[in-house]
Amino acid sequence: MVKQTAGRDQLGGFAPKFAQLNDDVLFGEVWSREEKLSLRDRSLVTVVSLMAQGLVDSSFQYHLVRAKNNGITKEEIAEILTHGAFYAGWPKAWAAFRMAKEVWTEDTPAENEKEAHANRMLFPVGNPNDNLARYFTGQSYLAPLCAEQVGIFNVTFEPGCRNNWHIHHASSGGGQILICVGGCGYYQEWEKEVRELHPGDVVNIPAGVKHWHGAAPDSWFSHLAVEVPGAEASNEWLEAVDDAYYGCLK
Ligand code: MN
Repeated sequence: MVKQTAGRDQLGGFAPKFAQLNDDVLFGEVWSREEKLSLRDRSLVTVVSLMAQGLVDSSFQYHLVRAKNNGITKEEIAEILTHGAFYAGWPKAWAAFRMAKEVWTEDTPAENEKEAHANRMLFPVGNPNDNLARYFTGQSYLAPLCAEQVGIFNVTFEPGCRNNWHIHHASSGGGQILICVGGCGYYQEWEKEVRELHPGDVVNIPAGVKHWHGAAPDSWFSHLAVEVPGAEASNEWLEAVDDAYYGCLK
């Protein structure tokens, strides 16, 4: 069954009956009759109906996103709107295409954003950080910059990506230095306030301190990780940063 709360969320106080009809009848009953007509086909009918009225407001955008999620491809929406243009009117199709283009090209912005981030930064992004992926939430990338004397890596986090709580152990010396080189991120030590990081910020992490680091939810982030030499150095990976806690940052 299709679950809808937009009516109650937006009009529950002002027009409770309309909200109930929207959420429970239109979506709860009509949209939900999937055995009669698939969600994909219902999306197609809805998008064409709205376009035919020249409605290209936020509700049209909502239904385009829904149509995409219900399986209508970029090629199909282009065909649907082209076909509809002859019956509904050329300018209406133009207006609809402007919005559809935004919804169906959203497949690539992640790549574009990554590229834009890389272009603003002096150091390379490198390759997916597959070896440590199990200790990260989200996708990170690793570019080894220096393997002699002191290990230095450029670590890049996609928006929302962060590593698990962890400890850099050493019996003497050791620990890690972070030098922020791009985007916006966070650093937090156990039971301390989270610290927001920007390019140029430096974080000294002594050995033995439980901490995590990563991107802000809405920004790519890169820092150089300097592995401070130490005796008997090792990394201990612990639990992931709580989603609810991370979600409240920013
Ligand atoms: Mn660390």
